[in-house]
Amino acid sequence: MQQIDRTVPAPWTPLQAKKDGEEVVLDVIGRTYRLGTHAGLPTGITTAGEEILAGPVRLVGRLNGEPIAWQQPFLALLQQDDERAVLAGAAETTGVIISTSVKAEYDGLLRFDIAITPYLGFHKGAELASGLEQLWVEFPLKPEFVKLFTYWPLIDGTEVKTYEPVNSSALPAEGLAFPFKPFIWLGWEEGGLSWFAESDQGWQPADPQRAIEVVPVDGQVVLRLRLLDSLPQAWAEQLDGWYHPNPPVTITFGLQATPVKPVDEDITARRIVHLSYYEPLETISIEAHPRPDGKPGSLLDRVAESGANVMVIHEVWNAIQNYWITDRPEEIKATVAAAHARGMKATPYFGYEVSTLAPEWAEMSDSILVKHPDGRYEGGWQRQPPQRDYMVCYGSAWAEKWLNGIAWMMDEYGFDGVYLDGTIMPWGCCNAAHGCGYRKPDGTPAPTYPIFAVREMMRRLYEIVSARDGIITAHQSSCCLTPTLQFAHSYWDGEHIGGAFKHDAQGRFPLETFQAEFMGRNFGIPAEFLSGSPDALAYTLLHNVLVRPGVGEMLDTVSSIWQAFQRFGTSTATWHPYWRNTLAQSETSGVYVSAYARDGRLLLVVSNLGLESVEAVVKVNGEYASARNAISGEAYSFEENALHLSCASMSWTLAELT
Ligand SMILES: [Zn+2]
Repeated sequence: MQQIDRTVPAPWTPLQAKKDGEEVVLDVIGRTYRLGTHAGLPTGITTAGEEILAGPVRLVGRLNGEPIAWQQPFLALLQQDDERAVLAGAAETTGVIISTSVKAEYDGLLRFDIAITPYLGFHKGAELASGLEQLWVEFPLKPEFVKLFTYWPLIDGTEVKTYEPVNSSALPAEGLAFPFKPFIWLGWEEGGLSWFAESDQGWQPADPQRAIEVVPVDGQVVLRLRLLDSLPQAWAEQLDGWYHPNPPVTITFGLQATPVKPVDEDITARRIVHLSYYEPLETISIEAHPRPDGKPGSLLDRVAESGANVMVIHEVWNAIQNYWITDRPEEIKATVAAAHARGMKATPYFGYEVSTLAPEWAEMSDSILVKHPDGRYEGGWQRQPPQRDYMVCYGSAWAEKWLNGIAWMMDEYGFDGVYLDGTIMPWGCCNAAHGCGYRKPDGTPAPTYPIFAVREMMRRLYEIVSARDGIITAHQSSCCLTPTLQFAHSYWDGEHIGGAFKHDAQGRFPLETFQAEFMGRNFGIPAEFLSGSPDALAYTLLHNVLVRPGVGEMLDTVSSIWQAFQRFGTSTATWHPYWRNTLAQSETSGVYVSAYARDGRLLLVVSNLGLESVEAVVKVNGEYASARNAISGEAYSFEENALHLSCASMSWTLAELT
């Protein structure tokens, strides 16, 4: 294993931390945080050019029936370098102290470890702490920057099935309440705030279904963590004293304002084709596969001809699931070389499992697998050659072996990075053999979500792949956990919802759902949509997102879009999304318009998301002589700055105005 270079990886830039009066100001790429003397909690968070806090983040407590007025404010900047800053903050009230450690990183991730401790003082009685009745953390947010939400998991547990994307949508006027969730993002189309925690260990909400609330209060939207609604259980069992102190309750959570890196609007930069065949094959050489369209040449010729610059080879590249040594190295090397000869990067499948065929199975599996609270394994994928594949926890020793394996694999076979299936998702795990899971006070096991471990692994993967000029594309379902997802160059979401986006008329797939989870702009991470339906493009193109094609008809469609975008020059155009498009507006209900502008020309995306065909009218601002279809060249009716289009239900049109 090569020495890991710990300098800040591009595109991130060194963190800057400085004292400003009583406060500490942290500057990272695109964002500024101000941390105050109220136990080190933020007093300001600026992202996408906006201050999103409506007031300082606060600890709201009650002691013996009275609201707590915190005293002895303290904040110190202990340490800083390019990568990180370490701060300590504190506050106290009669009988209880708060000690906070804050670790801020170059990517704008802030980790808060908050110890809530009974405190006798020199002349105070132990009974004082026993009056602690409530402790909440409240984040007051400006309502205009909390229009959208997404959380994970969509459902508890790890079962994969098709469901409606209820975890992502517009924030309801009355707000939301959840049981503990390890990840919540709140924001708007251009940015927002990720909150996350590995577990709810130490939390005692009065109603476990309302452990986390997002509620309107006095013109603000408050994200409320109900850490304690009663005296900590450990404190109730004995009276605190000098020689038998009660333990602190230590709560850890993280924050990360988004976008996490500069928004990359050029969706033609990554023209990715997914080769996802599952059958046992005579050969895995892509060159030996005939073209699916019957024309002369190989499958690889067909992919290259489409204009793709990255190809993904699904799990069939390797006999052993999620493993780095293939059983057919010469065929793989030849396939990679053939992709390179056609100007494409080649990336293989990696995922979330350990195979019974892996050499490490017998020695490592029980200590590295994800375990359910009842002790059973999770997953259980079956494939050929005969094997079963169980979900692995990257909070275990597997992470180190896997990273070493990927570095070796890229060097040995010539691959240009990896495709990741579910790898960025820190699955809930109770495997105590590697430190996951905990016991609730009543003895029942509860999972932890190893977010920090997966994040560290993903950072190292990013460094390994970047050093080899490679690309990481991450498939996940409903999990937009920015601290781990940000180390992918793009994410591919949507498999879990199947065709749910076709039901807009019933309100099951509002535009806000797409904006919150599937657009990527709000996170600063480019997105692709996973769908086999051509209709999906009506949604995605409005949001500057493409569907990743396989080698079927979708490849022709997406290839024609790549070519139209490249002819127009969208990579250097300015993008005007439908929610703030001043260049062109639809006058027809159900029809939306986004636009690219470049050198006095316009490329419009016109989508009819209604269930009926319509004669759409699009009003255009500016001087243009004519309009035509950007793919077929067909001329459109364009008079007095009005574009007239016939639009079928769930259709999209690329119209170029010159
Ligand atoms: Zn684990």
